[in-house]
This record gives sequence, C-alpha cells and structure tokens, in this order.
Amino acid sequence: MRISSSLSYRKAKLIARELTTTAINYSHLQAEEDARRISEKYALSYRDTLVFIRAFNRLKQKFPDKSESWFLRAAIRVVIGIIKIGNYRWKVPGVKELGDAYTWYLVVYDGKSKTYICDCFSRYGGTYRKYKICTHIAAVMAHRKMDNFLIEFIKSGEV
Ligand SMILES: [Zn+2]
Repeated sequence: MRISSSLSYRKAKLIARELTTTAINYSHLQAEEDARRISEKYALSYRDTLVFIRAFNRLKQKFPDKSESWFLRAAIRVVIGIIKIGNYRWKVPGVKELGDAYTWYLVVYDGKSKTYICDCFSRYGGTYRKYKICTHIAAVMAHRKMDNFLIEFIKSGEV
C-alpha cells in the first residue's frame, strides 16, 4: 500500500486490523462503505483502501483455515510496504515485531511450479516454515491482487 514509508509499527497494525476484519462473504457495498470510512479516518486513498479490503477478502477465501492473526500479520506487511524488484521478485521488509531477524526477505514466484518461494525458508526458522506459506508470501499475494484490482478499476473507470 502506498501509505507512508515512515509509518510506525503501531499505526500500521491499527490500520491493518481495521482493513482485515471482514467476513468471507463480504458484499461489494459493504467493502465500499468500509473503504470510505477507513480511508477518511486515516487519510488514505479511497481506491487503495478499497483494493486492500478486496484483496484480503480474496486471500481469506483462498485460505479459509488460516487464523485472523495470520491475515493480520500479512496485512501489516502490505501496509508497511512491498517493493517489486523484477518480474516475479519482491522485497518484503523485515519487521522485528513480527519476529523477523532480517532487514529484508526476498519472495520469488516460480511460474513452472506455480509456487512462491521466500528466502526465510532457508534462514532462521527454515525447517519450521518450509512447507508453510509464510506471511511474507501472503503479503506478496495480496499486493499482487491489489495491483490487479487497480488495473481493473482504471480500465473500467469505476474509481
Ligand atoms: Zn517468508
């Protein structure tokens, strides 16, 4: 999300929590109402807020077994910011409050196996995280979804 590069962890968490407290069967109208309210409250772009809400709603549909805290951690990462550094390559800032030991994590999408690989797999906690989708990857998935929604909006002239 293009909010601020100097956002504190506390504020990022506050915003992320509001943006992810959505039910799985969330209506478009409800999403729009929430986006309006939250974007005004935190002085965010309405369009970015709406695509964020929609992207996390899709993520919840895709991973119905994941906990609220898993989505919240992924959302905090998106709010703090994800940097695309190439085709299918992203840098995800490490957040010490989320237990990250490194400054950056590299997430790569492998088109052949259609899987995401994060370099936290091979770092600290690697064995534990290896067969799981870490929240660095979840954040990248949400970030890509947001970009797709933005493109759709621009094409349709909706927002
Ligand atoms: Zn990771």
